[in-house]
Amino acid sequence: MDYYSSHISKLIEELSRLPGVGPKSAGRLAFHILNMPAEQVDSLANAIRSAKENVKYCKECFTLTDDELCPICKSPKRDHHTIMVVENTRDLAAYEKTGQYNGVYHVLHGAISPMQGIGPNDIKLKELMMRLRGDVSEVIISTNSTLEGETTATYISKLIKPTGIKVTKIASGVPVGGDLEYVDSVTLLKALEGRVDM
Ligand code: ZN
Repeated sequence: MDYYSSHISKLIEELSRLPGVGPKSAGRLAFHILNMPAEQVDSLANAIRSAKENVKYCKECFTLTDDELCPICKSPKRDHHTIMVVENTRDLAAYEKTGQYNGVYHVLHGAISPMQGIGPNDIKLKELMMRLRGDVSEVIISTNSTLEGETTATYISKLIKPTGIKVTKIASGVPVGGDLEYVDSVTLLKALEGRVDM
């Protein structure tokens, strides 16, 4: 039997599908939303819909952006011969926050994980290989220090080696099992500066 109106139950159900939101927090959020002024609820709903409708992949690096090309790929000030490979747009943002990396990126949108059935074709790897046909001098692999991240790094390095393009990997310094997103800028910079040949 439903304790609440079916509308509230539905809202709680949808919210509890979000990562990190358990049934309890979903309930708290649902009641909070119900108490919000109507305009604020509209604004939240619109922000969600318009982000979903308008955000797309950059056709060059596959980060999430509003335009065909993201501001980084568009910028003539960036070094377009150096490509840093990251797992997701949040990792890209972490490196951008350091303000010290001047190359461009490639966003894989995931990592290879045999356990979860995610193979090389499920991430933006073919797209990376396509980009390497251009004038690229170094690929810096900055996947996370998780099992999946390491597997992906090794796989990519083996793919790139035959092309003769320099492949490096960010140094340990990023804690094992650590999500790049939560590592501070100083640690990220050290990892970048201490990168090693693969
Ligand atoms: Zn881009």
